Parts: sequence; structure tokens; C-alpha cells
Amino acid sequence: MNAPVQLTDVRKVYGTGPGAVDALAGVTYGFAAGTFTAVMGPSGSGKSTLLHCAAGLDTPTSGDVQLAGTSLRGLDETALTELRREQVSFVFQSFNLMPALTVRQNVVLPLTLAGKSPDDRWVTEVIQRVGLGERTKHRPSELSGGQQQRVAIARALAGRAAITFADEPTGALDTTTALEVLTLLQAQSREAGQTIVMVTHDPVAAAHADRVVFLVDGQIVSEDDSPTAASVAGQLAHLSTPDRSPSVGWSTAPHRLI
Ligand code: ADP
Repeated sequence: MNAPVQLTDVRKVYGTGPGAVDALAGVTYGFAAGTFTAVMGPSGSGKSTLLHCAAGLDTPTSGDVQLAGTSLRGLDETALTELRREQVSFVFQSFNLMPALTVRQNVVLPLTLAGKSPDDRWVTEVIQRVGLGERTKHRPSELSGGQQQRVAIARALAGRAAITFADEPTGALDTTTALEVLTLLQAQSREAGQTIVMVTHDPVAAAHADRVVFLVDGQIVSEDDSPTAASVAGQLAHLSTPDRSPSVGWSTAPHRLI
């Protein structure tokens, strides 16, 4: 069976002529079902472009993306929106909550927009699971940043989407709160079986994933299947140096702090 998120020779070129930038230079990768993968790499390496193309928010110049077994190639905007609504949820650095709505209303919003009636018991359970059971009627302005991100995570769980894309989900949070959010994302993949793809620049955050993939110049150049903050930071430092050599085994590369 195909991976829930499968990229095949995905290229994304911005601009034309001599100024063209290969943001993705032929990425083939399957994000396996129920796994939590972090995508890391130096600034400008293509992480955001990869996330946007994988989530169907941006169209590759060539190559194919399959979400839950459906190729995005040739899907019109309506079909793409429908597929995203069914299969995909998002957690962003900026939380993306509606200020006028309560916690519960924010959690069910994507379902409401999709014309579905929420499963009330499940919604209550996911709000409790993220620790906001006492705050269902609060509005985002009455919550801390960490609590707001928990609302976003509950929202990602509420629709039982198979896939969650997270873009720097802990970027705006303090260390303790970030840890809580990462633990929830871990649980989301381990207990709810969601496939999670998270872009981050933080080795500590990446170490919570099952696997880390490293991008350089629009290509996946290595993977870490048992990431620790130290191993990830070491590889990232190595990849960020201009004299890096792809022939060197990353796992044996000297660890330098970034
Ligand atoms: P990262 O998320 O790793 O920082 P990005 O995916 O944002 O990297 O960018 C990859 C490359 O593509 C960079 O060289 C960036 O300047 C370029 N790029 C990204 N978006 C655009 C755009 N809309 N137009 C032109 N170039 C872009």
C-alpha cells in the first residue's frame, strides 16, 4: 500500500531563466502511515515548499504527490479542497484560530465548513485530551499561546484526518509549553495513528519525531531514524557548512553545536 503522503520526483521551480530557483530538485519520499516525521534543513533548503506541495497547497512544477492514495495531479480546485478536507489537517505556528469563536467552536469549525455534523462525544474527548476540558467556552484571547496551540491540535484531531501537516508548531511557544505540544503530536501519531509531517528548525522539537529527514538545496540528503536533539543538531550543523560532502556518512560526522 502507498504511504499516506507520497512524493515522487517532485520538483518546484520558482521564476524562469537565469534567476530560476529549484526550491525542490526531485524529491521522492513516502511518509509512512502512523509515523511522525520532522523535516529539517538549512534556511532556504525547501522545507516550506515541500510542506506546501505535499499538502496540496502549492502545485509542483513536475512530479507527483499522492495524498491518501489519490494523485493530486489533474485534480481541480474543488476536488483538491474536498480531498484536503477529508484527509488533512493543519497546525501552524500562528495557531490560526478564529478570535470570535469559543474553543469548542474553533475545534469543530473545519467540520462545520465541510458541511458535516461533528461527533459531539469525540469532540469533547479530544478537547479533554489536550487538557482544555475546563475551557471549552473560552475564546482564544482568554488563553495562553500554549493553550491556543492545543486548540489547534484538538481541531486537527476532531475531524479524524489521516494526515496532519505541522509548520513550526512550537515556533511561538516557550520551552515547557513546546514540550507539551510535541508530546500531544507524538500521541496523535502513536494513539490515533495519524501520519504527521512537521517542519521545524528546532533540533529539540525534531527529536520528538520518529524520524527526521534532512533537506539541502531542495533534495533529501539524509535521514535519522532514532533522533536525539544532539544527533539532529550535529547533522544540521554539518549540512549547513559550505564544505559538506555528500559522500560522508552523516551519522559518523563530527557533531558541532549550532
Ligand atoms: P525553507 O522553508 O527551507 O527556508 P523555502 O521552501 O521557503 O525554504 O524556499 C526554498 C527556496 O525557494 C529558497 O531559495 C527561496 O528563496 C525560494 N522560494 C520560496 N518561495 C518562493 C517564491 N514564492 N518565489 C520565489 N522563490 C521562492
